[in-house]
Amino acid sequence: MTFNGFRVNLELKEMNMIRGVIVKKLDQFDDYRGNLKEIYRADEDPINPAMSYVSHTNYGITRGPHEHVAQSDFFIFCGYGDFTLHLWDNRKNSETYGKYWQLVVGESNKVSVIVPPGVVHGYKSISKQGSFSINLPDKLYRGEGKKEEIDEIRHESDENSPFKIPLDEANSDKKKIFVTGGSGFIGSNFIKHMLEKYPHYEITNYDALTYAGNNENLVEVENNPHYKFFKGDITNQEFVEHVMKGNEWVVNFAAETHVDNSINESFVFTKTNVLGTHTLLETARKLGIKKFLHISTDEVYGSIKEGSFHEESSFKPNSPYSSSKAAADLLARSYWITHQLPVVITRSSNNYGPHQHPEKFIPLFITNLLEGKKVPLYGDGANVRDWIHVLDNCKALDFVLHHGEPGQAYNIGGESELSNLEMTKILLAQTGRDENHISYVEDRKGHDFRYSLNCEKLKQLGWKQEIGFSQGLKSTIDWYKNNEKWWRQLK
Ligand code: NAD
Repeated sequence: MTFNGFRVNLELKEMNMIRGVIVKKLDQFDDYRGNLKEIYRADEDPINPAMSYVSHTNYGITRGPHEHVAQSDFFIFCGYGDFTLHLWDNRKNSETYGKYWQLVVGESNKVSVIVPPGVVHGYKSISKQGSFSINLPDKLYRGEGKKEEIDEIRHESDENSPFKIPLDEANSDKKKIFVTGGSGFIGSNFIKHMLEKYPHYEITNYDALTYAGNNENLVEVENNPHYKFFKGDITNQEFVEHVMKGNEWVVNFAAETHVDNSINESFVFTKTNVLGTHTLLETARKLGIKKFLHISTDEVYGSIKEGSFHEESSFKPNSPYSSSKAAADLLARSYWITHQLPVVITRSSNNYGPHQHPEKFIPLFITNLLEGKKVPLYGDGANVRDWIHVLDNCKALDFVLHHGEPGQAYNIGGESELSNLEMTKILLAQTGRDENHISYVEDRKGHDFRYSLNCEKLKQLGWKQEIGFSQGLKSTIDWYKNNEKWWRQLK
């Protein structure tokens, strides 16, 4: 894409290449009394500030693209709200001349950014409550201070400025996203999160509405002009192409997901999970999709007695479900290696939260207990699972979608490992039932003993879990208590 005569390169691989621009994650330090979190230490100042100011920017307000002749800007983006920050190199003698970089900064990505003179920058608040920033430039703005320290600013209102186009038109932060399986549990939570956080994004949900898909999960957004729904199967190549066309990003949730079903009737798992994913990848390649986020699972690694799986661990899936997901995961990877389709893969542990189908462990047990029924516990209940709240997973997916590197896979775990018996006892206590409500049933065939993920890679990139397990589980139980109509029709 060219913009105002510059070649603007949106390839993720090249984004990080504006010489002299330094983006650093902000650390948190306990203050000496232990009751405050400092995010910034003056003695670590990378520049010598001439002034400082703190700003609140209202939602949708754009600070147009401009550059400084002499001044370096040092920004701290933290606190509340997010911005899209746009940077491009306008220094003719720079080896990164003409390079463009866009990133989301602020509450969800707390960073400091140094912008040297000659690098054009502009930003826009994209959070409903507005966004917060601190600026510490190393020279004073025009009109203040000693003459020799006064900076010249070229900006969009200058007669000769090459940056006259408002950010809104120039920017590429308006994303059109094709989401598959968005009517299911995680997909619907993800779509609502994205439209809330990025109200200017457009989302097309493509879902076959199998027994697991339910558009009642999306009533909050069904009239949102930035949301569209198409009923379709991901194995239908022609229709997939028709609907995917015009989108920039793809997020693939669509899958057959219930392990028990894959033990009894597994062909549909191969069809949807393998052939369906392949169809999406091939169509995305053909249409030149800019980013393809494939939702895989921790189950592709198989079971582990001790320690945790990292992203390079080998695949040893044990059920037809996890084997079909492993095949899809490998196909996705191959499209990056072979065709350079910018594929990013996530492998999360077990999700829990609102709108999960009552066939799955936690909602099945909660709803049975609410009804006064017994809960069917496999074997002796010793099998261990790691649990993550669905909103934490959705925020991680959002994070990986924006910041993940093509060709990479990221584990997403909740660091809450519990045996199924431990989880059952917690659910019994929370719903006021006793252990007579446990019915021990014959173990699941090929039952994986333990899943465990090492999530350092994603943490290093800046993602952090926010919802504690007991708080998340309590709010989930409350949701099922308050939404009986929703789950009754599915049981
Ligand atoms: P879900 O079963 O609740 O939803 C799946 C959705 O896909 C449904 O809306 C369904 O209608 C749709 N779908 C199924 N077949 C389709 C097809 N052929 N074409 C189009 N749409 C189709 O699943 P979920 O729990 O939300 O899981 C979403 C994704 O996350 C899956 O890929 C799953 O493997 C993965 N995952 C889930 C968990 C978890 O704990 N739920 C953990 C790790 C990974």
